[in-house]
Amino acid sequence: MKILNYINGVLQAPVNNKYLDNTNPATGEIYGNIPRSDAEDVEAAVMAAKKAFPSWSALSAGQRSNWLLKIAQAIEDRMDELALAESVDNGKPLSLAKAVDIPRARDNFKFYATAVLHDAYETHDMGADGFNYTLRQPIGVAGCISPWNLPLYLFSWKIAPALASGNTVVAKPSEVTPATAYLLSEILRDIDFPKGVLNIVHGLGGEVGASIVEHPDTQVISFTGGTETGKAISKVAAPMFKKLSLELGGKNANVIFNDCDFDEAVKTSVRSSFSNQGQICLCGSRIYVQRGIYDKFKAAFLSRVAGLTVADPLSQTSRMGAIVSKDHFEKVLSYIELAREEGGTILAGGHAVKLEGRCENGYFIAPTVFENLPIGCRTNQEEIFGPVVTLTPFDTEEEALLLANGTVYGLASTVWTTNLQTAHRMAAGLHAGIIWVNCWLNRDLRTPFGGVKQSGVGREGGFEALRFFTEPKNICIKL
Ligand code: NDP
Repeated sequence: MKILNYINGVLQAPVNNKYLDNTNPATGEIYGNIPRSDAEDVEAAVMAAKKAFPSWSALSAGQRSNWLLKIAQAIEDRMDELALAESVDNGKPLSLAKAVDIPRARDNFKFYATAVLHDAYETHDMGADGFNYTLRQPIGVAGCISPWNLPLYLFSWKIAPALASGNTVVAKPSEVTPATAYLLSEILRDIDFPKGVLNIVHGLGGEVGASIVEHPDTQVISFTGGTETGKAISKVAAPMFKKLSLELGGKNANVIFNDCDFDEAVKTSVRSSFSNQGQICLCGSRIYVQRGIYDKFKAAFLSRVAGLTVADPLSQTSRMGAIVSKDHFEKVLSYIELAREEGGTILAGGHAVKLEGRCENGYFIAPTVFENLPIGCRTNQEEIFGPVVTLTPFDTEEEALLLANGTVYGLASTVWTTNLQTAHRMAAGLHAGIIWVNCWLNRDLRTPFGGVKQSGVGREGGFEALRFFTEPKNICIKL
């Protein structure tokens, strides 16, 4: 697959004509090229977006909604092709891409196509003095930068609200997984989407991403990725007074109490640890289990982990596919080594997996479980973003809170208990933007999404995102 940029409605090569290799992580083979674009391509994309802004923002919400619904329908029509492209690009099981990633990308467009029809502005009645109302207007050109773990899902989660609320967009998918964003640009071309409204520029973070952030005409930036990248972006964007949403890393805790629904807690904890090879920002990587059920939980958890088949992502039996890239594969293995050095006891995995046949050179790692690691060690503090979890017992609710809250991150947490009071106390006490009680990954798209502490600032999702991409203007009318 030869990938092209999509600027001003035209699929085009980068100005410098430079390309990067695109590797299939399940086979280790290079299977295509990605433009290594630079500031010149970003400049063209921003100019196209600027030019398209007056007409796009002047459309009614209903007209913009119709365009987004067309994109959603086209994603539906190309569902199988998109799922295959995502699996090959990212290494995730095809079944996961089909069941979760691509349907969710379609639903993101559908959700914002309809949400924008139901948003309302505030009015404040000041009695005899008149009234105030708030007009929310689109900002202009939005810069949207997304990571590799849920490529089209997270890409569309930013782009859809930005477009729905009347902005035009310059977007950069991760250079590691560009294929589905490229297919989206084919979709835009095929449905005659208005030129310049959404521009997709491929390339490296430090080049294309940095140029988008630095550009004086991208006054709003929505970024999802690692905390260190988020810091670098803030340094550039803050002095330019850009509006920023940063969805960053996590080190999420699962807290499991003695009185939980045991089977459900075990089953879901395995899923929340190892889905997408542990490469979901919401995966739990620190599992705290109350001492009364610790041994029983450990045995049941390990028995289920043993049943996770690491296999060719395209095979129907694959429950765990490849790690996204060679670099990331090596990073995850180095953390496994670190956990050993820090005195962790390996309960499962702890090694790369060598498959036979087509995938013999792929980047596979066995689901890995450690215990006996203290909260302060690097394994329990740093984001590994792979199939590696730690198990730790606790005694009291207070101790569970201290452990769960004991990192710089605060993205998500999961609590397992059948006691209503415990559930509410824990939900209030956990430092995280998202708390799941007796479930994982369930969410209503209308709710705000995001983390606290070093997991980010700002909120995406729901009506919050529509508002993020607008500038509120207060208008006071004297009667
Ligand atoms: P990175 O931070 O490395 O990259 C994210 C995106 O930013 C990529 O498109 C990247 O391009 C680009 N980028 C890199 N450097 C810069 C820069 N200086 N300026 C502008 N853009 C830049 O994250 P990963 O892609 O490795 O994704 C994994 C991370 O994402 C994890 O930390 C994970 O927790 C987090 N994440 C957070 C989520 C949340 O909602 N909070 C959801 C999903 C993931 P390139 O790929 O070319 O480097």
